[in-house]
Amino acid sequence: MSYNISITKTQSSKLDQLDFDNIPLGTSFTDHMFICEYKDGQWQNPRIEPLRPIPTHPAAMALHYGQAIFEGMKAYKNAEGTPLLFRPEHNASRLNKSAERMGMPTVPEELFVDGLKELVALDHAWIPPQQGSALYLRPFMYATEAFIGMRAATSYNFVIMASPSGPYFSKHIRLWAEKQFIRAAEGGTGEAKAAGNYAAAIRPTELAKAKGYDQVLWLDAAEHKYIQEVGTMNIFFKINGNFITPELDGSVLHGITRLSVIELLKSMGYQVIERKITIDEIREASRNGTLEEAFGTGTAVGIAYIKEIGLENETIHVSEESPVAVEVNDTLNAIKIGKIDDRFSWMTEVQSQLA
Ligand SMILES: *Cc1c(COP(=O)(O)O)cnc(C)c1O
Repeated sequence: MSYNISITKTQSSKLDQLDFDNIPLGTSFTDHMFICEYKDGQWQNPRIEPLRPIPTHPAAMALHYGQAIFEGMKAYKNAEGTPLLFRPEHNASRLNKSAERMGMPTVPEELFVDGLKELVALDHAWIPPQQGSALYLRPFMYATEAFIGMRAATSYNFVIMASPSGPYFSKHIRLWAEKQFIRAAEGGTGEAKAAGNYAAAIRPTELAKAKGYDQVLWLDAAEHKYIQEVGTMNIFFKINGNFITPELDGSVLHGITRLSVIELLKSMGYQVIERKITIDEIREASRNGTLEEAFGTGTAVGIAYIKEIGLENETIHVSEESPVAVEVNDTLNAIKIGKIDDRFSWMTEVQSQLA
């Protein structure tokens, strides 16, 4: 371990209060958090300590100017009980891409991964044993400097917290293709996992849900016809035997599940094309019977099967069944819990006695 991460353990674990068969969504947190502070141009004092509220100055710049970014990933357990992380170095480098875009300092990738490993090692008993469950990990960084004025902050916190999450039951979802509101524009912050991107999506998502849809399908800012992505998922279509996913044009989040699904599909012998794709093309493929499957990809749910896309005045029917997406989902899940060979070397083991 090249970083000296000091550890203060909790005196009173809350683990016995958690019902692993009934994990509430996003409201339970493990005993500890990783934290370090950036000041004087350096990350200082990396440590793990009991999870607690963090005092915030009312002028903390994150609250006013939105310098706040995050990551999302999961820790799993194999049959022997060894914790496993899925491609954590990709989350580390993506956090730093987000940081650069938002004028924030980068975190050394080794510090990011070491902090994750130490936290998961210490709180490994919180990784739910049930199939499909996992320990959700939330690394994030925000500006703490108390200053009123427009410039980059000079002090930040980088924190990792962990929250057990129950199994997600994949059902076929319905998307609303949004033509009024947008998520990201060329030159904007769409590639960054920046807190403000999600704030801007809340209202359009509420409106789509009120219409009976599960998620918003985001279209491009200029013409409202090119498909970008879904909520917190990237999107894939199977048309005439081939897979198509929107290219990474600067407005699409670089999903690690997306990247992995592309590699997996190619290894299964499918052609995967990354290119611009319009909602009209999807409508046409649905009409002429060549639209075979559609699905979203993201850490939270893995693969979400899409059965329908709602547009103003019409509905695009996709399919009620998604056999290839199901196969991809099952393979991904099996790799994540060490049930099948990790043939892409995606998994990183965490020694649970690390801490
Ligand atoms: C996080 C996220 C994704 C999915 O990324 P993964 O690394 O696969 O979890 C896709 N789109 C958006 C907007 C996201 O925030």
